[in-house]
Amino acid sequence: MIESARDKFIGCLLGLAIGDALGSRLEGFSAEAIGRANLHVMEFLDELWSWSRGRWTDDTKMVIALAESIVDAKGFDPDKAARKYLEWYESGDWRGIGNITQQSLANLKAGASWRESGVKADWAAGNGAAMRIAPVGLLDFKQSDKLRKDVCDDAIITHNNHEAITGSIAVAYAISCLARGNINITNLIPGVVGFIHPSETLLKLEMAQKLFEQKVPPDDALSNLGTSSYVAETVASSFYCFLSSSTSYETAIYYAIKGGNDTDTIAAITGALCGSHLGFESIPLEWREEVEDAQRIEDLAISIYELAEEQTEDRQ
Ligand SMILES: [Mg+2]
Repeated sequence: MIESARDKFIGCLLGLAIGDALGSRLEGFSAEAIGRANLHVMEFLDELWSWSRGRWTDDTKMVIALAESIVDAKGFDPDKAARKYLEWYESGDWRGIGNITQQSLANLKAGASWRESGVKADWAAGNGAAMRIAPVGLLDFKQSDKLRKDVCDDAIITHNNHEAITGSIAVAYAISCLARGNINITNLIPGVVGFIHPSETLLKLEMAQKLFEQKVPPDDALSNLGTSSYVAETVASSFYCFLSSSTSYETAIYYAIKGGNDTDTIAAITGALCGSHLGFESIPLEWREEVEDAQRIEDLAISIYELAEEQTEDRQ
């Protein structure tokens, strides 16, 4: 079955929100602790769903804020995106907001512009920009130069750090390739590696590709790649879960969560990659219906699809 680009856009954002919700209850647990439950894929995921009932965390909050800014501005505008992030910050409904994001949004609230608000330190190499970037990957799916610029401008609102920016470009570019649909997924990492700048994220992605070619089981691969909120680890592990289970949304999410630590974000990015590749129908209907703000997320995906379709191609 060939999924339409529209189905992939919806699959990307719903896949992300549902992955976030499923991963949310085990954030911070080690892989060893999670592994002790020894449950099969659907036993494990049904248990997690019964706990969360589709309620997601800060990752999806920021995705919705970014998506709304794109729909309101009829394109990506960093000033509008920053205003939406600030609105969320001021709502107080933070749901596990990261330290770097919190500090940056406090800077915005104090009057900094979007160019100045982001934390610039070495320790600002977290996954907070990469976890929210899916709407830009979709919007710019035909235009890779614009994608690179838009992703940089979005990232620096909170994470003015080379690694954090590069990790976000890697995620957005992968989503754009998958939404276009003309890629053999074994070439996904080589394509991303050719697009991003030298970085730890690049080295970790190359390691992920080697492990994938050696057919290393996901549990072992993730313990090698790392599952912390350091963006290079988060991105490489998310790509691994997707590549190693690219025909099954549920299996990919299962491994993303079993890897432990930053489970909600790794499952969110894995879910976005799976949904961009497989379309929304690959995700169980019950989850699509029950996930918090399901209709709003679907409507945002469709609106971004309509904006993206109007763009002209700059890619082969
Ligand atoms: Mg979170």
